[in-house]
Parts: sequence; structure tokens; C-alpha cells
Amino acid sequence: MVARIARAAQGAGRDPRDVTLVAVSKQQPWDAIAPVLAAGQKVFGENRVQEAEARWAGKADGLTLHLIGPLQTNKAKEAVAFFDVIESLDREKLARVLAEEVQKQGRSPRIYVQVNTGEEPQKAGITPSDADAFIAACRTSFGLQPEGLMCIPPAEEPPGPHFALLRTIAERNGLSKLSMGMSGDFETAIRFGATSVRVGSAVFGART
Ligand SMILES: *Cc1c(COP(=O)(O)O)cnc(C)c1O
Repeated sequence: MVARIARAAQGAGRDPRDVTLVAVSKQQPWDAIAPVLAAGQKVFGENRVQEAEARWAGKADGLTLHLIGPLQTNKAKEAVAFFDVIESLDREKLARVLAEEVQKQGRSPRIYVQVNTGEEPQKAGITPSDADAFIAACRTSFGLQPEGLMCIPPAEEPPGPHFALLRTIAERNGLSKLSMGMSGDFETAIRFGATSVRVGSAVFGART
């Protein structure tokens, strides 16, 4: 996987070191994770707070853990305490609660705003037309400094235009990080400027 990412980066005229692999370990048995960890992978993604804690508590030293799934406000406290990166900031109420927890705990996970580029009703994320105002509100009303944007394109559409849209929104808001691309489309995402790719099944095998 590291080699495929490096080839995709080079093919796009980019430095492979500018693309981070977030290995998505959700729903994977430890037997699948242990060899990846032993091979030196240090960055992992999880989509549920409690599942992540069960899997990684006591083992997370030296690792970087990303929350990539929707976050309920009543789990924000645990999420701020546990994760290094929260990629799924998608509404004002959550911004407010995260900001309060950052204050209380003195711990500041890096934050990404999730954008629903396909405007799918069942999917989380700020709509593209609301993104600029939301990012501004994060900064001015809540004192949060998101470092980038995340998206999950509609499964049935070519992802390229969604990746391009995410990049455009990031650039006009002065955000340098783009979390985009999964097992089926990470090479495309890298061509469109992904700085991190969230890859699960192509790293660990099908989820159980
Ligand atoms: C599960 C998940 C992934 C990884 O999906 P794969 O297709 O297994 O690579 C990436 N991003 C998010 C938000 C996910 O929930």
C-alpha cells in the first residue's frame, strides 16, 4: 500500500511524503492489524469512539489515531480525550461542544471539516454552499482552527469532480489539508491533491 501511494504521488508529480496513509482499522480483528503495526504503520482511522477505545486503549503510544466517522455531541468529551485528529466536524452544535472540551481538557486534536460534496441526504457533512460560512464560524465563533477538509464522494459517481470541489473549497478558505480517497479511489484522490488517504479493506482485507 505504501508503494502504491508513492507511485500515485510520483505519477502526479508530488512528493510521496506529502501523502499520509490513514489505515482504517474499524471492524478489523487484531490478527489483521498486528502485522500492519509490526510493519511500521503509525496512523490509524476509526469510525466509532467506543470501538476505537476498545481496540487501541493502552496500545496507542506513538500512534496517531483519526476519528473518521460521525460524532455525537455526547461522545465529544471522549473523542477529544482520545483522538489525535477528528475528521468529522459537520455542524455548529458539534463545533461548540468540541470547543468547550478543548478548553476544559487543554487538549486540541487536529480538526477537519467534513463536506458533503454530493449533497446526499443520508450522508454527514456541511453542504458545499455552507462551507465557507461554517469554516469562518469555526474560527471566529468557536476559536477552532480546522486544518483541512474531508469528504466521502457518492458511491455511484466518478469521484474526481468531488475531490476537485473539496480542493477548491479548501484553497479559498486557506486550508492546506485534504482527507480524501479510500480503497477504491485513493490513487485518483492523490492526483487531485489528497494529503491523506483513508484506506481500510485494501490494507487489511474485507471487514468482518
Ligand atoms: C470505512 C471508511 C473508510 C475506508 O474504506 P475502505 O473502502 O475499506 O478503504 C474510509 N473513510 C471512511 C469515512 C470510512 O468510514
